[in-house]
Amino acid sequence: MPYAPIYLDHQASTPIDPRVKAAMTRNEGLYGNPHSTNHLAGIGAARAVETARRQVARAIGGDARRLVFTSGATEANNLAMFGVARASSGRRGIVTVRTEHSSVLEPTQALGEMDFDVQTLPVQSDGLVDLDSVERAVGERTLLVSVMHVNNETGVIQQIPAIAEICQRVGAILHSDCAQSLGRLPLDVRKLGADLLTLSAHKCYGPKGIGALYVGNRARNRVRPLTLGGGQEGGLRPGTLPVPLCIGFGEACRAAARDVHADAERMGRLAEELLESIFAAFPRAQLNGSRRHRAPGAFNVRFPGAGSDELLDAFEGIQASSGSACASTVAEPSPVLLAYGLSPAEADSSLRFCVGRFTTEEEVRSAGDVIRRAARQLSVTSPIGRLARASVG
Ligand code: PMP
Repeated sequence: MPYAPIYLDHQASTPIDPRVKAAMTRNEGLYGNPHSTNHLAGIGAARAVETARRQVARAIGGDARRLVFTSGATEANNLAMFGVARASSGRRGIVTVRTEHSSVLEPTQALGEMDFDVQTLPVQSDGLVDLDSVERAVGERTLLVSVMHVNNETGVIQQIPAIAEICQRVGAILHSDCAQSLGRLPLDVRKLGADLLTLSAHKCYGPKGIGALYVGNRARNRVRPLTLGGGQEGGLRPGTLPVPLCIGFGEACRAAARDVHADAERMGRLAEELLESIFAAFPRAQLNGSRRHRAPGAFNVRFPGAGSDELLDAFEGIQASSGSACASTVAEPSPVLLAYGLSPAEADSSLRFCVGRFTTEEEVRSAGDVIRRAARQLSVTSPIGRLARASVG
């Protein structure tokens, strides 16, 4: 009998929280243009957008006036990278890390093809960037450093406050892609110390198609817009705002700010349970990246001896993935795992899993059953059988 689907790919996207849906439905009638504040329809829409802006800003301990809505994290990352580059007349140095999301790496590569000096730092085998290497790479000529908070394939958390200190010493701007940390970890822009912060609503139980770039005080006047044609969003992101999406994003952030501690505790516990089931069924399986510096709920495991497609087939009903959704059209081993020092074969035998706010204990138990069954099945059909304990199940 086919297993009921168990969604364990919350890094790719999250389901809409019922509170978000209710807020969006409640405000369905707000058809006015939020930038037409000369009549009531526009004013109603503008008020809803400003409430949402405050809710998003509050979730990161920031100032609502510094928040620029975008279409998502991809656009926010592009605005951070190209926007800062466009505004610079002196400094030309750009420093980033090999394990960043493609929406940071590709703009960085494009800037390297212009006349910017790009350095892409390696990471250690635990996925963390070595702070000494940041210290060595960053100097008086550095314009921008971009280091993500939580990695989307492994859940590894970078040491942003320490990197912020290094950047502040030399007057470089620090951008951090926080798409994976919003709602998963308590976020406070003052504690993180980043000047620019990327957020995405659909990674924290909000709608797809909206995100934000937070432009902190030190980065003010150091970012230029990439699209022209209107003065919205402080001139940084012209165009009419999607009011229902803003409302959904705001409510998702309100819920995240309220629930993040309880969610993190629960997701952490469920993920540990799932990991234990995996290690019990596949004794040679290994965690990729740091165990300690890891966001609750997310992990990446390699199963020596099996390919990721074969594993996903065997884990029938479990919806996980072998890498970033944004790179899933590219049939190559994960660049993140290669950067951790894995061989292409090891990277190809790895899967990422991520539980979410609505994952139930029951689902985690069922996933454990599927994994034990898959271990038995693979022991017959694949070299991975050498992994599965004879005693399993
Ligand atoms: N950055 C990270 C770390 C991500 O995980 C993602 C989504 N895969 C993005 C950026 C892109 O987000 P969006 O879908 O909102 O454009």
